[in-house]
Order: sequence, then structure tokens, then C-alpha cells
Amino acid sequence: MYRSRWSCAFFLLIGHLACAEVTSIAAELSARYSPFADWASFLDPAAIAKNQPTGWWQSPEIIKGARSEGKLRLSGLHIALEPGHIGGAWAEWEGRNFRMAEDDYWVREGELVLEVALRAAAILERLGAEVSLLRTSSHPVNPKKPADYWDAAAKEFAAPSQVSLSAQFSHALAVRDQAIRMAIITGELAERARLVNESIRPDALISLHINAAPWSEVQPRQLVDSDHAHVLIFGCLLASELAVTRQRERLIEKMTNGSGPIEVYLGDAMGEALADATGLPPSDYSGDNAVRLEGTSAYLWARNLMLLRLVDCPAVMLEPYIANSRTSYPRIQEALRARAHHEPLPEEDILIEYADAVVQGLLRAYGGEPR
Ligand SMILES: [Zn+2]
Repeated sequence: MYRSRWSCAFFLLIGHLACAEVTSIAAELSARYSPFADWASFLDPAAIAKNQPTGWWQSPEIIKGARSEGKLRLSGLHIALEPGHIGGAWAEWEGRNFRMAEDDYWVREGELVLEVALRAAAILERLGAEVSLLRTSSHPVNPKKPADYWDAAAKEFAAPSQVSLSAQFSHALAVRDQAIRMAIITGELAERARLVNESIRPDALISLHINAAPWSEVQPRQLVDSDHAHVLIFGCLLASELAVTRQRERLIEKMTNGSGPIEVYLGDAMGEALADATGLPPSDYSGDNAVRLEGTSAYLWARNLMLLRLVDCPAVMLEPYIANSRTSYPRIQEALRARAHHEPLPEEDILIEYADAVVQGLLRAYGGEPR
């Protein structure tokens, strides 16, 4: 009799815990992962709650707790830095290659963030962290070449109805352009995510970018007035994305593998560090493709971007500065000029500022007391 009453209470308790878990998953879907879509049409929180957490990474709490006295401030942390894009010969194809005048230096996001990553990595290693860089040059990481995507690209374009040389030539050019984009953008991101998940397996990934604003219609092109910064973590799936099986699978994996709360904590820390270093205001999204998270830094947004979705471990993307703004463009030009002339870099150098912010953000999230 007593025993059956005990087991009844036990199952009630388990049932209550499971119920709390389902409620919390539903709340997370509404606040972060799919706030603007009718997610209940695609997902069952009770089914999601049955997934078991599976992650190789360690939380900031565990890393800090395991660090013994006298150790360097970031010892025990394995961080991966991903300089976004590729730069070099691919910058034009990436749509990340511009300058305002013929005498100016080319602004190539892939090259600027590589410089930031290399500089940040050197400081982080001196602080005791193990750092893995996703790339160290302006060449693709993806071993597949554009020709490997030709068949897939060709499927996206109907064969020309005319046999004229010009029609055939235009079709071939469209397929070629698409094959290049598949190799250096989507294929490249998929390969970087695969490396993180299968080979590097860090405690977290920081993806480095520099933002840019759409150009106005005015000709000749003018630099824009607004300059701001923000940080992105995974979330905010639209209904059209929830309808895709692979996207739903990734959402469930990311919601249940334990990376989510660390992303909020780390994203918050990186956002505050960028705000302190740059003095820029937070960016603002007006559409349904991004959401700000209640109770966190105004700089932190959730968005469904491919790399953030595909990487299993905690992943945070940084988007400081508007490269084509009146304030940041001259600073980027000065940074490129000083490097081209091998001059000592001034303290206000924009790329040093960015690298220092990355270090400060990681110290906030994972760092021990200064020694
Ligand atoms: Zn970018």
C-alpha cells in the first residue's frame, strides 16, 4: 500500500518535471526560436522534450570552475574563430568588394576579419586559450570546386528554348555563376560547419564579420550615415523555414543539445564588449527575420543563418561597424593604408579595436580574475 502511494508520487513528480520541460520548450519557441510563426503547426514540444542533450563542449561555468589558481585567465577554453567569407579573388563573387574612389583601398570583408581573427587568436593564446582558426588565408576551405556543383546548378535553370549561340551562352553563364556561388558560399559554410562539428569540436565558435548597409539609389554612390553593431545567435525561424524537414531537424537539435543558453550568455558578453569597444549603438531589425531577446543586451539578436543553424556547439556571430558608413569607411581606409605602408598601427586602429573587443567578450564569458 505504502509502496504504491510512493510510486504514485514519484510518477506524479516525473510527470510534473516533464510538463515543466514541455512548457519551457514552448516558451523558448515563442520567444526565441520561432516568435513570428505558428510553430505549433509544425512542432510538438512534448516530442522535442524527449530528446537527450548531446554535446562535447563545456559550459563557461564548468571551464571557470575547473581552472585552478595560478592558471592563465582563459586556460581550459578551446575557442574556434571563423573569419567570415573568403576575400581575395572571391571577394567580388561574394559581393564583398568595394571602394569609393580609384585611389582608395579595396574594402574586402573576408580579408579584414581574417586580420581581426589572427590578431585576436594571438592574444587569446597568450591568455591560455586553445584557439582553432577556420581559415588562415583568402582561399576557400571547401575542397569542392565550382565544377563539382555544375550539375546541381544546372538543375536550377531551364534549358534555353532557342538554339541560338547567345541563348546558349547566357544559359551557360547563369549556370557557371550559380555553381561558383554554391562552392564559395553555401558549400563553404557547410564545410566550415562540418569541420567544427566533426574535427575541431571547440567549446564555442565565434564568427567574425563586418556589416554593411544597402546603398541608396543616389548616384554616384554615397556613404551612409548610420553606423551600429550587433551580435547574432541562432533562432527566429519563419514558417517557410519550419516547413523544411532539415531545418526542423536542426532546430530540434539546437534546442535540445544545451548550446542555446550558452549562446545567450556568450552573445550577451560579446555584445557588451563590442558596445564598450566601439561606442556604436545597437543595430535594429524591422522585419520578421530576427528577434531581440527579453532581458539580454540590446546588441543581441536571434536569426536563422546557415552557419549558426549548422554548428552544433554554442555559436555567436559578430556584426560590428557599417563598412560603407561615413564613420567606419575612413577608419577602414586608414587601417589598410597603415598596413600597406608597414607603419606602426595607432591605438585607435579599427581592426585592433575589433580584435580587442573579441578578447574582452571572451574574458567576460570564460575568464578568470586578472593575474
Ligand atoms: Zn559578413
